[in-house]
Amino acid sequence: MKYKYFLLDMDGVLIRGKEPIKTSIEAVNRIKKAGYNVVVLTNNAIHSEKNLAKKLQEMGYNIVHDEIFSSISALREYIRENPFNTAFPVASFGVIEALVESGVSPFDSEDVDAVVVSFDKYVTYSKLERATKAILKGAKFIATNPDPSIVTEDGLARPGAGAIVGSIEIATGVKPIILGKPSGWMIQLASHHYGFSVDEAVMVGDRISTDIMAAENAGANAVLVLTGATKKEEIPKDFKYPVYKDLLSFVKDIGL
Ligand SMILES: [Mg+2]
Repeated sequence: MKYKYFLLDMDGVLIRGKEPIKTSIEAVNRIKKAGYNVVVLTNNAIHSEKNLAKKLQEMGYNIVHDEIFSSISALREYIRENPFNTAFPVASFGVIEALVESGVSPFDSEDVDAVVVSFDKYVTYSKLERATKAILKGAKFIATNPDPSIVTEDGLARPGAGAIVGSIEIATGVKPIILGKPSGWMIQLASHHYGFSVDEAVMVGDRISTDIMAAENAGANAVLVLTGATKKEEIPKDFKYPVYKDLLSFVKDIGL
C-alpha cells in the first residue's frame, strides 16, 4: 500500500454541519482495521482537539483526540520547532490554551516575540491596533488559518480568521506565517508530529482551493471527494488528482 497515513478533512468529508456523512464512518473503520493511520486534518482553531474528537465520537466515529491535527495542533508543533517566549494573541481560547501549554506566555502588550492570530469572537479595534504595533516593532506574525469566512446555519457567512488576519496584514504590510490549509505547513508539521514522510500520506478533501492546494504545496498525494463544497461540474478539466463520490468509494477502490 502506497498510503500509510490518511489525512482527512473534517467538514465535507467526515461531517456535514451537525450530521455525520454516514458512509465515512465505515471508511474510517476500514482504514483502521487494515492497520493504517487516520489523521483528521482541520483548520478549525475554535475548538480543542479533545472537543473535536468528542464531537466526532458522538456522531459514531472511532476517532481519538491524538488523531485530530487542527491548526491549533499545527501551532503547537510550530512552537516546538521554533520556540518563542511571549505572544500577543488575537485568538480563540483554544489557541491561548495551546500557547500556555507550549510554554509561551500570553501578554496584552506590544512588546512580544509573536502575534498569534486566529478566529477571535472578541476582536476589537484596540486589539488590532496593538497587534499591528507589535508586528511593526518586530514581532513574528503567525496565523493559525486563513479561512475568510465561517458559514452558519442561515447560509450567510460571518468573518472568519482570515478576515482578522487580513486586516492586520493590510495595516502592517507584513505577510503572516499561515499554518492552516492551503499552506503546505499544516501537512509538513503533521508529518513531523506523527513521524511520516509526506509521500506516504494522502490528503482527502472536499475543497480544491484549500485541501488539495495544501497537499500540492506540501508535496503530498491528494484525493477530492464530492460530499462537500465542490460539485462535479466545478472540477477544472486539467485537474490531476483522483476524484471519488465519497471517502468510502476511495477506500474500497484501493482494496481496504
Ligand atoms: Mg472541507
